[in-house]
Amino acid sequence: QYLSGNEIRQLFLDFYTQRGHQPLPSASLVPEDPTVLLTIAGMLPFKPIFLGQRTPDFKRATTSQKCIRTNDIENVGRTKRHHTFFEMLGNFSFGDYFKPQAIAWGWELSTQVFGFSPQNLVVSVFEEDDEAFAIWRDNIGVTEKRIKRMGADDNFWVSGITGPCGPCSEIYYDFHPERGDDNIDLEDDSRFIEFYNLVFMQYNRDASGNLTPLQNKNIDTGMGLDRMAQILQKKPNNYETDLIFPIIETAAKIAKIDYHQSDENTKVSLKVIGDHVRSVVHMIADEIRASNVGRGYILRRLIRRVVRHGRLIGISGEFINQVAETAISLSESVYPNLRKREAAIKAELQREEVNFLKTLDRGEKLLSEIIETVKQQGQNSITGESAFTLYDTYGFPLELTQEVAEEQNLTVDVEGFNAEMQKQVERAKAAHETIDLTVQGSLDKLAEHIHSTDFIGYTATATTAKIE
Ligand code: ATP
Ligand code: MG
Ligand code: MG
Ligand code: MG
Repeated sequence: QYLSGNEIRQLFLDFYTQRGHQPLPSASLVPEDPTVLLTIAGMLPFKPIFLGQRTPDFKRATTSQKCIRTNDIENVGRTKRHHTFFEMLGNFSFGDYFKPQAIAWGWELSTQVFGFSPQNLVVSVFEEDDEAFAIWRDNIGVTEKRIKRMGADDNFWVSGITGPCGPCSEIYYDFHPERGDDNIDLEDDSRFIEFYNLVFMQYNRDASGNLTPLQNKNIDTGMGLDRMAQILQKKPNNYETDLIFPIIETAAKIAKIDYHQSDENTKVSLKVIGDHVRSVVHMIADEIRASNVGRGYILRRLIRRVVRHGRLIGISGEFINQVAETAISLSESVYPNLRKREAAIKAELQREEVNFLKTLDRGEKLLSEIIETVKQQGQNSITGESAFTLYDTYGFPLELTQEVAEEQNLTVDVEGFNAEMQKQVERAKAAHETIDLTVQGSLDKLAEHIHSTDFIGYTATATTAKIE
């Protein structure tokens, strides 16, 4: 039988614990680091150590870190490998072992513990990192064609404009080695998936961009647990692994549909629900509350997306807590705070859901009035302005307005809608430039603007929301 997600996590932690790493619990999704809203990588809790601001009690550590990446929100359900919430497995060296050892262990873990055949693995290195290239080729025995040199965008890690940085090397799984070694394109996600990133923190970058070698070189790595589950459980995507699929099944059951029989859009909605519900239960467990600013706004946006996608697949009433219950029971053995905070989680989710459903109801009423007027005037199209008001004030995605309009044989002026959206983005930008951010009232104003770019994930033409 295939390895479960929990077994994969444990195998990783055991492997590095046996090799002198201190196993540590996941830090909160709310980072100590003030420069990011949420914990986005396993290294974040160790950043003060890497920056030399804190001395660790140990030279090596290993964790499975809860992460949320809102920059991947548009990818959720659409790629096979991206989530908002995911767990990043990591091994860390604080001025202790470095490149050859990190590579050797990364390879040993992948091939001996997880049993990947070398034929199924491809590695990338930073284009200028001849040392890493040589280690993969000479120490490990990877053939040159399966070591890809990549540019700085993918394979050079920086924590900011200045500070510690360095090249990285990533390990990819190749689902189709029979396609040969000559046309390896790591961007091709029908063939490859990145699962393990090894960062070699070896330089300090100063303000003028000069790199000087660090005295204490560090290792920071990240392996995506959900991606490992996809590969090892032989699933077509992360969503069908044991780490998420039960949540999707609960949502499908409420909607009285079957995931496997569903069309593509329905599957996307189910995946969004599965993904976001994991995120929101963990966020609330980590004391985040819904609001119009910062983390609270991200939480609100995720909850509303769940509700919206629930509607898209035919769920009409409240449902989020049934799905949340599955998410909690799925993860409580590893994250007991989910059950401890169950009451708070469910109260928060219900309040947000009920409020949003009311807003949607009001929007629906307004929409039918608009439709009435359009028809009375003998026209066949809803103006971009009206569609935008529905979107902006009532949280109605353009898609939904279009759907309802279509049922009435009407169209929606999408260009006009986009123009309004653009104006809104400009207004938000202008506000951002002129507002004194220390004044709470101004902050709230800004939040309103930010809030109005909600649901942007549904419109292919819209620019990304300004919450990241
Ligand atoms: P990708 O190129 O696939 O977006 P990445 O290069 O942005 O991934 P890293 O920043 O290198 O990812 O993070 C380390 C590891 O964490 C990745 O190799 C992957 O296994 C996992 N990971 C990163 N982003 C996600 C995500 N959105 N969902 C699930 N796993 C992720
Ligand atoms: Mg990414
Ligand atoms: Mg990548
Ligand atoms: Mg990467």
